[in-house]
Amino acid sequence: MHLILLGAPGSGKGTAAADLVKIYGIPHISTGDMFREAIKNQTELGKIAKELIDNGKFVPDEVTCGLVKDRLSQDDCKKGFLLDGFPRNINQADKLNDILKELGMKLDATIDLDVDHKLIIQRIVNRRLCSKCDASYNLVTKKPKKDGICDVCGAPLIQRKDDNEETIKTRLAIYSEQTEPLIEYYKKRNLLITIDSNKSAEHTTNLIVEALKKFN
Ligand code: AMP
Repeated sequence: MHLILLGAPGSGKGTAAADLVKIYGIPHISTGDMFREAIKNQTELGKIAKELIDNGKFVPDEVTCGLVKDRLSQDDCKKGFLLDGFPRNINQADKLNDILKELGMKLDATIDLDVDHKLIIQRIVNRRLCSKCDASYNLVTKKPKKDGICDVCGAPLIQRKDDNEETIKTRLAIYSEQTEPLIEYYKKRNLLITIDSNKSAEHTTNLIVEALKKFN
């Protein structure tokens, strides 16, 4: 299965991705996660990405597309992939077409997680992540059993630096301007699946699995 997961920040991409990669046995390729890892390891890429990400801005397309091309060239992507957070604009989508052509791969579907923008800010400011295993929590809808501690591995939970109300507004504005046009882009190519992501994470995953049945 060769999939793209599209949707605004806070639409539930990360949570749905964690379920889908388990169900379909494909690698989860999140450009956001790759940048955060590079920042943690203080690599050259991390230095370029840090300030941009902290302010909700995009990392330049050239850097991002190069990273994705390297990742998709790895052996584990031969069985498919789930791209999360990439592409984020039309230029990246065009570049992705070139990369896939070069690698002899074909996209099966782009899943757009549709969510009411009013819900997004509530979801993001309450989002907490495990500092070690990246498990995701929400202080209102998916609380950890013990305050501030990951249920899965017991490590402390953290809040992403860009998960504050000010930065979310920038991220949402950039999303509307640059990423939302991709919905039309993939619709025109008959690759779009729209999923209602306003309810629970479980509900969202079930809808996606149902919609992807025709590819099995
Ligand atoms: P995410 O984890 O997908 O919300 O991404 C976090 C941040 O990483 C974004 O706000 C951007 O600053 C950066 N980023 C992630 N993916 C991309 C991309 N495809 N193009 C440019 N910047 C990106």
